[in-house]
Amino acid sequence: EKLTREDILQRVKELNVRFIRLQFTDIFGVLKNVAITTKELEKALDGELMFDGSSIHGFVRIEESDMYLRPDPSTFAIFPWRPADGAVARLICDVYNPDGTPFAGCPRGVLKKVLAEAEAMGYTMYAGPEAEFFLFHTDGRKPTLETHDQAGYFDLSPVDLGEDARRDMVLALEAMGFEIEASHHEVAPGQHEIDFKYDNALATADKIATFKFVVRTIAQRHGLHATFMPKPVAGINGSGMHTHQSLFKDGQNAFYDPGDPLQLSQTAYYYIGGLMHHARAFAAITNPTVNSYKRLVPGFEAPVYIAWSPRNRSPLIRVPAKRGASTRIELRNPDPACNPYLALAVMLKAGLDGIKKQIQPPAPVERNIYEMTAAERRDLGIGSLPGDLKEALDELSRDKVIREALGDHIYERFVEAKEKEWDEYRVQVHRWEVEQYLTMF
Ligand code: GLU
Ligand code: MG
Ligand code: MG
Repeated sequence: EKLTREDILQRVKELNVRFIRLQFTDIFGVLKNVAITTKELEKALDGELMFDGSSIHGFVRIEESDMYLRPDPSTFAIFPWRPADGAVARLICDVYNPDGTPFAGCPRGVLKKVLAEAEAMGYTMYAGPEAEFFLFHTDGRKPTLETHDQAGYFDLSPVDLGEDARRDMVLALEAMGFEIEASHHEVAPGQHEIDFKYDNALATADKIATFKFVVRTIAQRHGLHATFMPKPVAGINGSGMHTHQSLFKDGQNAFYDPGDPLQLSQTAYYYIGGLMHHARAFAAITNPTVNSYKRLVPGFEAPVYIAWSPRNRSPLIRVPAKRGASTRIELRNPDPACNPYLALAVMLKAGLDGIKKQIQPPAPVERNIYEMTAAERRDLGIGSLPGDLKEALDELSRDKVIREALGDHIYERFVEAKEKEWDEYRVQVHRWEVEQYLTMF
């Protein structure tokens, strides 16, 4: 639903909205809020609301800290968990420089830029995520790693306290305009998944940012802690954010070709080729933390090797069975710690590059790659995703196409912050090391 400035002012009055949160994300995808009163709303809707960006991660140097927020009217939503009397609404914003140009450090702007590139080629991107998360108990103040649930995949277990919380999450999301397609317990104890309907890529990025915030808020109201950390517990499944994606051209699904043996178009093959070609580089964005790489290991339904398959569920890229308007590919490495705007921007950029350069993907792999030897994988030319954040950052630094999607501003600040994160991590002495070596040497 597209709301105009006037619609919003009207709704705010009707619904007795007292506060409006202007939202945007920093380069790590952390949602930031500037709360304003309804009095200031008109000014905000005219893009005249200034804020100090110097305190936001990866934003600006102190001397140029004035930024302008331009709310996107189509993102207007009411927080359903707040009292109806004195309601709180939100608007997602683009960030602009004082001179009226888009701010290069705005992740939403980065996605818009790549979407415009797609548009110029005649394509609209649609995307749908499968975000997984864990619900843990708190000890009253801090989150723990304990779950009380006994449930497994798709179980309906009365002992699962998470079920109630998840139900409320679904209701809250629906009240905010999400169309929930599925919601279920995942494989690991305490792990859940809520899937919402695909949408154009920008709307989907906004929804992912909103989704994480809503899930956390509702969990908290149930005395639980929701985490999108990719691998909170060793030895059990981690949380992924498989991303279904397709391109449309002239209102038609550009990935569908009934004449092809797999009913996939040449565009789809090139898109897959582009994703595979750039996967090692964009992993730093789709899997942005030290912890992300502990999920991408064999044995936990997360991808490790760079391969695709129309059937097999385990490789990096899967092609779900649906065809016609629903033809899409599913990229399985992204995790929910990623910045959804940047992640969709780099995935699309990779796919478009595949189309532009006509990158033909290798043959699909139908065998279980995890059962192959290293030599067999080598013979088939099956590479692997980066093994850790450092390797991912090095790959990103070598990939001009993916760097171009991010722009210099975000690329530089992202890498600087992530190198620091890696350096802090690598000097730690892990419990595993002590157990392993303390008595051995
Ligand atoms: N949790 C798995 C992952 O880390 C995915 C499980 C599934 O196929 O939904 O990607
Ligand atoms: Mg899942
Ligand atoms: Mg999936």
